[in-house]
Amino acid sequence: MSTMTTSASVSGRAASPWLDFAPCDRSIQSIYIHVPFCAVKCHYCAFYSKEPDRQTIEDYVTALCAEIEAAGPSAGPRTIFFGGGTPSILPPVHLKRIFESIEKAGWSGAEEWTVECNPATLNPAKIRLFRDYGVNRISMGVQSMEPELLETLGRIHTVEMVHRSFDQLRDAGFDNINLDLMFAIPGQTMSHWNSSLQQIADMGSEHLSCYEVIYEEDTPLFQSLKDGTLSEADEELAEAMYEYLIDFLRERGFRQYEVANFARDRADDAMDIPLIPDFACRHNLNYWHGGSYLGLGPAANGFIRDIRYQNVANTRRYAELMGSTRNAMEWKEQLSPMARAGELAAFGFRTAHGWDAEQFRQRTGFNLTSQWEQPIRNFISCGWMSHKDGRFFLTPTGLRFADAVAMEFLVTG
Ligand code: SF4
Repeated sequence: MSTMTTSASVSGRAASPWLDFAPCDRSIQSIYIHVPFCAVKCHYCAFYSKEPDRQTIEDYVTALCAEIEAAGPSAGPRTIFFGGGTPSILPPVHLKRIFESIEKAGWSGAEEWTVECNPATLNPAKIRLFRDYGVNRISMGVQSMEPELLETLGRIHTVEMVHRSFDQLRDAGFDNINLDLMFAIPGQTMSHWNSSLQQIADMGSEHLSCYEVIYEEDTPLFQSLKDGTLSEADEELAEAMYEYLIDFLRERGFRQYEVANFARDRADDAMDIPLIPDFACRHNLNYWHGGSYLGLGPAANGFIRDIRYQNVANTRRYAELMGSTRNAMEWKEQLSPMARAGELAAFGFRTAHGWDAEQFRQRTGFNLTSQWEQPIRNFISCGWMSHKDGRFFLTPTGLRFADAVAMEFLVTG
């Protein structure tokens, strides 16, 4: 039996932690909602998610609705991202309760509202619900179009399910769909990679996110590497796959706007091509450009007025805290202006757009080119960074090493 207090016992807005941050602060750009459930844990995954039971889902939804209600007045988001975990695992009745809370909070008119989905847990009833409540972007975890690689990754969906879900989303009118793919999967050859990319390109999504597999400790994939059951893709192959990806997608009308993210523009014949592709994910751009965002749900983190915080990473504890104190925050910290500027530089350089030096100064109070003069010189001289009209950005080669670039800004920050 659950130990949580139900929403009926939650009373009064006075205890809301959001009101401490910013009463009626319409400047909060984005809201992230974490759904901590997955049907089965993928072999490479280190995110916070669990296989749910009915009572845990019920308790989670009650707590989340309370958190949305508490945050409601302090936000007027342009973007909402419903991530996880697997949001599409929630039954329609629970999705509906959450969406009604979002509607009550006045957030349903968000310009971009994404829901992450697993092809194995989507169906027409859920898709209709998404449309009815204003979801206008779907991000679907595909990872590979090769059955044996899906097995290596421990994914529960099949290639057929990917096609079926995609067709159902299109039939329902979704015209902004992202597909996630992975490369450097153990056992993946260049020919597998090409085959997955061809099949995905034929589907014609507006956006692709392509990640290199990372071997996180405490995952079955890491264990398989350690005991020799699987062997890691070598660095040269991973690099060749990334380069192939960039060329392949460029030829098919995608523009790379971040290390792992590629999007199309609305019209191929646009005369005035914007720096950021039309179908770029606005929610993630807000993170990379240092905008404010609320994080709701267990393990979610947020960033508001230079304060970074995280909710407890335990669904039962989250539900108990929301029931008793209406505040599930585990910790919060305020960065020094210099550390924040360094972090902003590092995030911004993940995007193909990089940073306009003057905008960076206005945003942070620090001069990008004098504060980080030496690293910037080094990156320019080795061909990882370039600049034009006062804007500094990583070259295609530099983007491949964006994590190493970031370290220079974070360390000196
Ligand atoms: S579906 Fe996503 S969050 Fe869930 S286990 Fe797999 S990778 Fe992790």
